Amino acid sequence: MKNTQEIRKERLTQLHTDWNERCVCKLKNTALCFVPGVGNPDADIVFIGEAPGKNEDEQGIPFVGRAGKFLDEMLASIKLERKDVYITNTVKYRPPNNRDPFPHEKEECFNWLADELNFIKPKIIVTLGRHALNNFLPEAQISEVHGQLLEKYIQLPLPHEKFAPLSTSYFFALYHPAAALYNGSLRETLLRDFKKIPNLLKKLAEK
Ligand code: URA
Repeated sequence: MKNTQEIRKERLTQLHTDWNERCVCKLKNTALCFVPGVGNPDADIVFIGEAPGKNEDEQGIPFVGRAGKFLDEMLASIKLERKDVYITNTVKYRPPNNRDPFPHEKEECFNWLADELNFIKPKIIVTLGRHALNNFLPEAQISEVHGQLLEKYIQLPLPHEKFAPLSTSYFFALYHPAAALYNGSLRETLLRDFKKIPNLLKKLAEK
């Protein structure tokens, strides 16, 4: 018999399959495949990146290229593995030549992300880079807010034009691992900020 987590995983897979059919984002036409989120469907912590790159587009898995290896290393540094967390992207299709996703592409993929978050109900959302951050805090500057616990009450869209509160009001903004890969000072900052995550999780568990 399947356990609860297996059943939740199957439901999440179905959610992604349905959204891939329904999503009107034009990036679909140039990408090789859609790249759904992966990891624990009951994760307390969700990491959100920008968009799949070349490797992710080829494999259909988020963060499997160089930035992904760096993310895995940072997770290991705080004794977490991919199976403990949930990792997804703002847009689910690779933009051509890895350009930034356009605002309308982010909007077209937002309800998909909202649905994933409504399903997982994390205690905290960690945004990787400015695109992920600005989904929730459109005015925030990553250079000003990185490494801080941010609080904002958000309503997420549901089907049939209804809304539901996001399961958490807590956000933690990090620089994107790809930006930090070849920039020594950003890398130091990102590593330092990342190390704050275990304490944040502890504090949130006590709330
Ligand atoms: N960068 C992202 O933002 N997401 C990925 O999946 C890979 C690289």
